[in-house]
Amino acid sequence: MLNYDNLSQQDPELYKIISEEKERQENEIEMIASENYVSKPVLEAMGTILTNKYSEGYPKKRYYGGNQIIDRVEELAKDRAKKLFEAEHVNVQPLSGSPANAAVYFAFLNPGDKVLGLKLDHGGHLSHGHPVNFSGMLYNFVQHEVNVETGKIDMDEVREIAHKEKPKMIVAGYSAYSREIDWQEFKKIADEVGAYTFADIAHTAGLIAGKQMNNPVPLFDVVSTTTHKTLRGPRGAMIMCKEKYAKDIDKAVFPGMQGGPHDHINAAKAVAFGEALNPEFSKYARQVIINAKTLVQKLKSLEYKIISGGTDNHLMVVDMNSKNVTGKDAEQTLEKAGISVNRSTIPNDPNPPMKPSGIRLGTQALASRGMKEKEIELIAKYIDEAITNIGKEEKLDGIRGEVKNLCQKFPIPSA
Ligand SMILES: *Cc1c(COP(=O)(O)O)cnc(C)c1O
Repeated sequence: MLNYDNLSQQDPELYKIISEEKERQENEIEMIASENYVSKPVLEAMGTILTNKYSEGYPKKRYYGGNQIIDRVEELAKDRAKKLFEAEHVNVQPLSGSPANAAVYFAFLNPGDKVLGLKLDHGGHLSHGHPVNFSGMLYNFVQHEVNVETGKIDMDEVREIAHKEKPKMIVAGYSAYSREIDWQEFKKIADEVGAYTFADIAHTAGLIAGKQMNNPVPLFDVVSTTTHKTLRGPRGAMIMCKEKYAKDIDKAVFPGMQGGPHDHINAAKAVAFGEALNPEFSKYARQVIINAKTLVQKLKSLEYKIISGGTDNHLMVVDMNSKNVTGKDAEQTLEKAGISVNRSTIPNDPNPPMKPSGIRLGTQALASRGMKEKEIELIAKYIDEAITNIGKEEKLDGIRGEVKNLCQKFPIPSA
């Protein structure tokens, strides 16, 4: 861990909590598809004096003095992001994924405008029109589903709904969808009906940056992403768009949605983008996908049902009905065995949202620890042993011990 001498001496109460969380992260297997381990340089950048500064506005157009040096931090982050994703314009100020999406809608839409997106329980995100989210309250979302048989997005259905509903924007990019996305076809459909194209690559940005998945940035009008999932940067987000929308996006982020940017986080974004530009990052991205495909194969051989039958990215949704277990019970059981996952709905879930039928598994954090196929096979075995021993505390404790042994051979990068 970094040197936390001051923290440990002056606030031992909080320091103790952080130390316990560090130990948990070191000794448990992290398979929540939206998490990752940042590098030490990313962690260090977040802990700098840049947090002291206020810099409302944009480089060379700030509403506060003393930003000559901060401007260079933001420009560096922007330049690296542009190179990484072949973007014409980048705004690195969004504080997180949902506020970034709010800014995108704010820039392109008026309240009440129609947007087409994927249903939440089919793999979409809350901010793509769910009724309890601002997006669903402010805008008129119409939603498509994945195909019942294939578990994949059905471009014919997307086209049919788009032609019928004539949305002003089509959003693609998901939270619990394991397949490549046909960006070209989405763009074609949007052009047919005169809709804006918006890609939300929060989950797969690192795999796109690592050149292992298709990049929508050169094609779409606007693209948002978080920086902390497969991209392995600090918690935060950014928006990329065509130059002709640059002013609208910038205005929507500030003063539209936010006050001052978090300059220390933007510095850490610059560090993470720098890391992602290094050829080593492609190897990580490749391994993430190899690990996910390995896990799918192994779980299928153990008779787990995988939604869509496989994966092209870092994640998969497992239908736990194939083992007569609810997603919630599976999540709690795996937690006892030292494996963090999250419960997830499956398409057309017969069970209620608090007790959904699936779990979502991701392999990006395991790849960041250096784990490869051999370890993934072992982890699949632990998962299966835990699920078949639901309620048997001693047995689960035993697996937890084996998980800990495995973890100790693969220290977390930010420890
Ligand atoms: C995670 C995610 C977000 C939101 O990110 P937060 O930083 O948690 O607000 C937005 N869109 C998609 C598709 C996501 O998966």
